[in-house]
Amino acid sequence: MMEVTLTCSECGSGIHVLPAVEAAIAKCDVCAHEAPVKFTNDHVEGVLKDCPCCERKDFYSQKDFNRKIGVTLFVIAAILSIWTYGVSFIVLYALDLFLFRKLSLVVVCYKCTTIFRNVANIKDIYGYNHEMNDRIVYSDHDFEGIQLEH
Ligand SMILES: [Zn+2]
Ligand SMILES: [Zn+2]
Repeated sequence: MMEVTLTCSECGSGIHVLPAVEAAIAKCDVCAHEAPVKFTNDHVEGVLKDCPCCERKDFYSQKDFNRKIGVTLFVIAAILSIWTYGVSFIVLYALDLFLFRKLSLVVVCYKCTTIFRNVANIKDIYGYNHEMNDRIVYSDHDFEGIQLEH
């Protein structure tokens, strides 16, 4: 199922929600701020076309790089390399290649930075576009889901 992480507009904490058509509000665990959400049947099926928070259609995909896990793995590999003569670093490299580069892609909303995991139509979503980001964030431009081509 698609997992949605909104950014609380009051305190900046992440608010985790699972899509449900009847859900209208996502409540922040930290400051109790209530963010309005609008889920459709598409979201329930994992298809992302409209943002449930800001209702925009502009998204980008990026690697779900978990820094904490990355650092922990690096430390483990460094300790193990004493006994494995550096083989653990090769294993770490392979792990990184498979785990972080292939499996974990997340989708982010340009406008409200909501993060979506397990998106079914991830193939339709382009990588980060700097110009689109600038125009959406600074000039409030709405691309309506049409990717800017260069
Ligand atoms: Zn909050
Ligand atoms: Zn959004």
